[in-house]
Amino acid sequence: MATFEYRCQQDGSFDVVLPVGTAGPSTSCPRCGFPATRVFSAPRLARMPAALREAIDRTERSAEQPEVVGRVPGGRPARRSTNPAHARLPRW
Ligand SMILES: [Zn+2]
Repeated sequence: MATFEYRCQQDGSFDVVLPVGTAGPSTSCPRCGFPATRVFSAPRLARMPAALREAIDRTERSAEQPEVVGRVPGGRPARRSTNPAHARLPRW
């Protein structure tokens, strides 16, 4: 199955899920019933927001190549304690 994009002149674009190779040049609009023409667009992945695509890519990479960090990403660096007893604690 694949997702195909059609555009109704009145209602705008909508998606139709059909088996690959069965999408015709037009279909009826689900809202108004008038013919809607097929839009030949880039693959679905290219229409995904960049931040979402990066998050998915990072998640897939982390399955085999987990990132090693020294601190919480985006967080402030930890403040050093002034308590001398804390200086004897192991560092990680
Ligand atoms: Zn319509």
